[in-house]
Amino acid sequence: MTTYDDTNIFAKILRGEIPCNKAYEDDFAVAFHDINPQAPVHVLVIPKGPYVSLADFSADAPPELITGFYRAVGATAKQLGLEEGGYRTLTNTGADAHQEVPHFHLHIFGGRDLGPMLVR
Ligand code: AMP
Repeated sequence: MTTYDDTNIFAKILRGEIPCNKAYEDDFAVAFHDINPQAPVHVLVIPKGPYVSLADFSADAPPELITGFYRAVGATAKQLGLEEGGYRTLTNTGADAHQEVPHFHLHIFGGRDLGPMLVR
């Protein structure tokens, strides 16, 4: 079983202990602008639950939360006006992917032509 560290920065954002630039929130997820944006629009969507990565979220989260989370991703992109031009979503899981924050999150990138999927 994966151990969740509730001192991570996104847990603190969820608890309202540190601020974020919120883009969307519902019962299942919070979306906020990345502090170091890699595209004109770069938003992170996090579930309201103690999951380290996609690995334990996909295995252990209740179906309502998984559904609600992905609906929140779509709603966030729509609210940000990204549906017409398109957007990219990305999730880093573990060391090889350079996951920095141990609370499952999905990146939404958009606002320009994003080029090829992987740079290197
Ligand atoms: P990852 O490498 O997938 O774990 O991505 C973590 C992301 O979190 C990076 O893009 C960081 O810029 C972003 N980040 C870290 N701290 C904050 C914060 N306090 N508010 C918003 N984004 C953050």
